[in-house]
Amino acid sequence: MKDQETAVSSGKLHDLLFRLQAEHALPRAAWLELLRGHTPALQAKTAELAFSVREKFYGNKVYLRGLVEFTSYCRNNCYYCGIRAGNAKAERYRLTESEILSACSHGYELGFRTMVLQGGEDPGFDDDHLARIVGQIKKLHPDCAVTLSCGERPFEVYRRWKEAGADRYLLRHESANAEHYSKLHPAGQTLASRMECLQMLRELHYQTGAGFMVGSPFQTPETLADDLIFLSEFRPEMVGIGPFIPHCDTPFAAEHAGSVDLTLYLLSLIRLMLPKVLLPATTALATLDPDGRRKGFAAGANVIMPNLSPPEVREKYSLYNHKAHTGLESADSFNALIQSLAGLGFNAGSDRGDYPQEQ
Ligand code: SAM
Repeated sequence: MKDQETAVSSGKLHDLLFRLQAEHALPRAAWLELLRGHTPALQAKTAELAFSVREKFYGNKVYLRGLVEFTSYCRNNCYYCGIRAGNAKAERYRLTESEILSACSHGYELGFRTMVLQGGEDPGFDDDHLARIVGQIKKLHPDCAVTLSCGERPFEVYRRWKEAGADRYLLRHESANAEHYSKLHPAGQTLASRMECLQMLRELHYQTGAGFMVGSPFQTPETLADDLIFLSEFRPEMVGIGPFIPHCDTPFAAEHAGSVDLTLYLLSLIRLMLPKVLLPATTALATLDPDGRRKGFAAGANVIMPNLSPPEVREKYSLYNHKAHTGLESADSFNALIQSLAGLGFNAGSDRGDYPQEQ
């Protein structure tokens, strides 16, 4: 009798997966059923469907993005983040223009065709200076895309960076549930302002990335359903999700890390919802599980973001503890990465890896 009930409920959940694959959206009640019904068997079925969707649009290609973490100064106080302004123990650094350009040139020589400049919201890093740096990267490497991930800025600043040549922007929405968002951030940081920024980026024709941490404190199936509904409506070109990992010098030091399996399950659900999305297997995933990257690809991810920052600053960009090292100090380590991808059946794309245009 019990077996029969299990079969009926798993049949129903499979039907929801097929519906998601066909319609790319689900009503809230259906998302909740899929989230509450998460089992290893359902996760495996979802991954199987997601893997073939990724294969349909991307074949065996995965895209590499060279990550340059250019400043660890930040004016914000997100409760989860190790580089929050209130963390007096954080070691701060700010790369110079020539350090950023040489990290990008090193990446270019290795074969990267997207450079991601990420940092805290650093009031000491002039917006026009960053625009000039973006312009320099595009001038030196015209066949590269530049992605920025520099937090919330006024429309005018986003516009100047776009005009300087920036192609994409990553700004995780963190939580689409206002109450949950307010438990992750102090009063001055609001979901409304985050959403306004995402709309501005869209209006300026950036390829836009949203996303959230899996297992952040106070997250529930209900708040996750809000995240998935938001993603299905906003339809970003990129989605960044990775497990929350506590940092010892933040208010969330004693919280538990997010689950690798839930992250993998959500990656697969997002692939079914947004078939062409650029979806990284994140460093946070690789931090919690040494096999995280491979599992991320098997679940439908198609991007990795190795670190191109100068080795001496990498430890200082500490968002969470025990961050995995994916440094590419040498051509040898880059070749090892390419070979390990090949061993998994993937080829690193040699082009910019833009979001595929609608046919
Ligand atoms: N300042 C920019 C912003 O807020 O978008 C970019 C840098 S921010 C540090 C990049 C991302 O790191 C955040 O969107 C957040 O989701 C993630 N992050 C921060 N602390 C984390 C933690 N403890 N565990 C996992 N991810 C974390």
